[in-house]
Amino acid sequence: EKTPVTLLGLGAMGAALARAWLAAGHPLTVWNRTPARATALTADGARAARTAAEAVAANPLIVVCLLDDASVGEALDGADLAGKDLVDLTTGTPAQARARAEWAHERGARYLDGGIMAIPPMIGVPEAGGYVFYSGSRDLFAQHQQTLAVPAGTTYVGENAGFAALYDVALLSAMYGMFAGVTHAFALIREEDIDPVSFAPLLADWLVAMAPAVHQTAEHLRAGGPTEEDVSSLAMQVAGIPTFLGTAEQQGVSPELLSPYFALMRRGLTESESGGKESPTDLVDLLLH
Ligand code: NDP
Repeated sequence: EKTPVTLLGLGAMGAALARAWLAAGHPLTVWNRTPARATALTADGARAARTAAEAVAANPLIVVCLLDDASVGEALDGADLAGKDLVDLTTGTPAQARARAEWAHERGARYLDGGIMAIPPMIGVPEAGGYVFYSGSRDLFAQHQQTLAVPAGTTYVGENAGFAALYDVALLSAMYGMFAGVTHAFALIREEDIDPVSFAPLLADWLVAMAPAVHQTAEHLRAGGPTEEDVSSLAMQVAGIPTFLGTAEQQGVSPELLSPYFALMRRGLTESESGGKESPTDLVDLLLH
């Protein structure tokens, strides 16, 4: 007997979640603010509730995947959450998740927050490698892990309800740094007789080759300093900055994406002369207010 699920929100992501639970044979009750979005799913066996409160009343396990945290508050306003297990997959900040957990507890519900590391086509496709960070009630997670694992992998990161959002945003922030570098790299070759499609695999392979540097940074952070001979000291990297800025200028490319990181590297070196910061890892702590 598969656990019945109530799902609020049938946007691009919600609809993909719904399809995965239906395909796996979970009884599914859905609600969406715009009811037309439920029609295709009811044809495949979902039950459409007329109101969010009615959907919440239908099952003990409630999953919400709405636009933002404000829409979660709006949709659940007036629903009786006493004794329910609320799983909120809506993207938000860590503080919003902690406040939403508090809000759920006041209404007698257990709360689990989720950060989805996947796009809709990856949902219900285990080979695609998509997963969801979860944080909050450990008991809720333990009880429903099998059901939650149907649409995507599950990675529990602690009882602090804000951690799923924090891990999610941390990974996506690193991704934006990578996208910034990729944008700059393509701009450098843009006006030359270089085929971007031939250039792309060189770029992608280089990023993959550099990715393990993440582990070295982590080891340094844990040890409170470099743990072995540094292969690329901050001083060496700062000495190379004119090469990068000069090349950008020669290619007619704005340095705006690289400049902030170079400024931080220079600040790190300046502070090292007055004591201490000599590894790129130290830049992490320089960012803290
Ligand atoms: P969509 O824009 O496709 O859908 C938004 C959903 O929220 C719709 O069901 C919409 O209802 C509903 N909604 C918006 N405002 C309200 C409100 N005030 N009250 C009730 N319902 C409301 O978004 P997605 O499905 O793509 O995303 C949903 C969540 O999943 C977001 O938090 C997003 O960040 C997250 N996510 C999405 C990913 C993606 O690639 N799509 C990837 C990872 C996370 P209606 O149909 O009536 O407009």
